[in-house]
Amino acid sequence: MVVIVEDERTIAELERLYLTQAGFGVHVASDGATGLADIRRLSPVAVIVDVGLPGLDGTELVRRLRAEGDWVPVVFVTAHDSEIDRVVGLELGADDYLTKPFSPRELVARVKGLVRRAAVPAAATILRAGRLELDERARRVLLDGAPVELTATEFDLLAYLLAHPGQVFSREQLLSAVWGVADYSGSRTVDVHIAQLRAKVGDPDPIRTVRGVGYALQDGSV
Ligand code: CA
Repeated sequence: MVVIVEDERTIAELERLYLTQAGFGVHVASDGATGLADIRRLSPVAVIVDVGLPGLDGTELVRRLRAEGDWVPVVFVTAHDSEIDRVVGLELGADDYLTKPFSPRELVARVKGLVRRAAVPAAATILRAGRLELDERARRVLLDGAPVELTATEFDLLAYLLAHPGQVFSREQLLSAVWGVADYSGSRTVDVHIAQLRAKVGDPDPIRTVRGVGYALQDGSV
């Protein structure tokens, strides 16, 4: 079950059509308060949330879910760049976002990627780099032994880099490996999440920016 919270009926119906064709059960709510109640009631595998909603807006809806400890994967749908900045700046554990107009196929790819990542039981592997310790099974990161709160995407990104020391990855490779999508227009997504990761686990920065290429784990941090 995927819950769509969207007040524009034509967009909601397009999302419903494509997700249904992809095999998902779909429930649509057209305002934030109803959407929040429906998500609590239905425990969906993923949620698609329009940011601009009547009443309770999309970011507030997800903020309330997170405050209740509900970390259901979310795809935010934004109408303007200013909304993207709001979504990213809030650090809601928002796993992804799409900007209108978007391809319904891209939406389905994002939802599938999020659901797959949330469902895969991680191997019992502890990865270490410098002051960081990452427990894949418990999905926990420690910095000098103290827990660090990461979103699902930040965790997956860090785990991927830690699992491949010495390798340099382009933004497209990271998008493909971590987000499960091959969409070059989403490279800003990678930069944003790298910046968020650095803000939480930096100093010394475990991630190296390779100019003109992409990112790698810092040399000598393993
Ligand atoms: Ca709207």
